[in-house]
Amino acid sequence: MSIDKIEARLAKGEVLILDGAIGTEITRRSGLPGTSDLAVTQMIKSPGLIRELHKDYIGAGADVITANTYDCNRPALEQVGIDPSRVAQITAMAVDLAREARDGAGREGEVFIAGSLGPLGSDYDPDDVPPLDVCLSVYREQVEAMASSGVDFILVETAARVRSARAGVKAAVEMGLTAWASLIADSKGRVKSGEPWGEAVEVLLSDGASAVLINCTQPEVLSLAMKELAQQSAAPVGAYAQCARYKGFGWEFGPSMSPQRYLGYARQWVDAGARIIGGCCGTTPEHIRALGSLRDQA
Ligand SMILES: [Zn+2]
Repeated sequence: MSIDKIEARLAKGEVLILDGAIGTEITRRSGLPGTSDLAVTQMIKSPGLIRELHKDYIGAGADVITANTYDCNRPALEQVGIDPSRVAQITAMAVDLAREARDGAGREGEVFIAGSLGPLGSDYDPDDVPPLDVCLSVYREQVEAMASSGVDFILVETAARVRSARAGVKAAVEMGLTAWASLIADSKGRVKSGEPWGEAVEVLLSDGASAVLINCTQPEVLSLAMKELAQQSAAPVGAYAQCARYKGFGWEFGPSMSPQRYLGYARQWVDAGARIIGGCCGTTPEHIRALGSLRDQA
């Protein structure tokens, strides 16, 4: 399996570069208000926009691109009034677009496709994460569609509580797929739920996660959290921060963080031990291009 190539590179201590934001880039590029249905409705209406976005991240040097599947789970589709029986079809469409971009760029075997599992319950709210069995059944449906449409591995993203990250990892491992688990941090640098990184790592690795990451967290807080996570984890760790703030009705982009300033934070994460680096909400292909210089630093 091609994922072996990624694992071999991580085992050598190389820095891998992820892509940057998908959702906020769709908002920015479409010029439409950043409503919660936009990533899915724009993909259905303008698939070329998503393909182009993936292509730009590949051009910027990403080793991994993330399929636009973050909001394609059953409750997320239901919430925005899309027939939830379309989970498999819409998930497969997102994976196909990523693959078309990669293969169109002639980078098969070099750039890998992560299938994203977005958070369940209200975003960023650890108290609203559903029970483990509910998370598991939602994620299983999506992972099944991703496995048959050919993702290289599963990336559980923006988990506010260890429980939902575990569900994503378990769903992936059951289907024979590699899983990376990415959680968000609170302002003190702990897991958003207050759970200690040591416990989170222990449980996630025993469930079969191959890497543990922190995402969608302010860059300076992420630096604090990464010091703790890297110390606790025997498996590779990674980071991709947000440079935009969600204001309840949409994304607020300004004042924007320059790619060079973002690189300064990413260097702190690599110094702390991170080997998987990318961008979350508010980042662009230019932020990912800037990260290229970290490949030689590790
Ligand atoms: Zn984000």
